[in-house]
Amino acid sequence: MTRGIIVSAATAVSIAVAGLAVSAQLPPNPRAAELQQWAIHDLTRPMPPVVDPGPAGPPAPVPSDATVLFDGRDLSAWTTAKGQPVTWPVRDGYMEVVKGAGAIQTKAAFGDCQLHVEWASPAPAVGASQDRGNSGVFLMNTYEVQILDSYESATYADGMAASIYGQFPPLVNASRRPGEWQSYDIVFRAPRFAADGTVTAPARMTVFHNGILVHDNDQLTGPTAHKARPPYKAHADRLPIGLQDHAHPVRFRNIWVRDLQ
Ligand code: MG
Repeated sequence: MTRGIIVSAATAVSIAVAGLAVSAQLPPNPRAAELQQWAIHDLTRPMPPVVDPGPAGPPAPVPSDATVLFDGRDLSAWTTAKGQPVTWPVRDGYMEVVKGAGAIQTKAAFGDCQLHVEWASPAPAVGASQDRGNSGVFLMNTYEVQILDSYESATYADGMAASIYGQFPPLVNASRRPGEWQSYDIVFRAPRFAADGTVTAPARMTVFHNGILVHDNDQLTGPTAHKARPPYKAHADRLPIGLQDHAHPVRFRNIWVRDLQ
């Protein structure tokens, strides 16, 4: 009799958990304590230690199975959000953000992928905090790895260079000086959604900044946003990769992607 009561209680708990939909089955976030401890864009959240990545080199070699998104010569792989030709100028092997021209995105769509991006913030540096060499790489046009001039320049930790914006600062600050070429190598795993739209696996990112590990399979809480951590909203399996116009003339070169799906 006693045993029967225990089984019934367990069943009730199981039904209650099922009521939370598939999200109840998500693995715990290893950095959940940080998310609890720090408010979004909390200025008291510690900045990570500085690591000198060494000098910038020439553009990284392109793997034979990669899709080249930008080779320094043309923007044929890119479009605006409205499907118009990109007006960012291309010269001397790089493209440059034009204030007000708007974000750009790849014509092709990607889900799981390995993405290589090289960028440089303006030199001499202008502005401070978020108003200093700001752009961003958006996986699936939704999940931002922040681009910012964070060389001897403070801002909120979850918005510095190589942060997963509004969620996770990088493990270290591997920034080079403004004007020097920097690289991101991003291994992105797209979130998975059930047929009813609930998330069954969160998006995950491993990121190297100038060759240095800054995110080790971090689980995103949902889309990145300013002053918000919105929940996941079901989307397509593949979406474009975006580059942000944050009104600063950030430069890009040598962008390629390897499809991991
Ligand atoms: Mg940005």
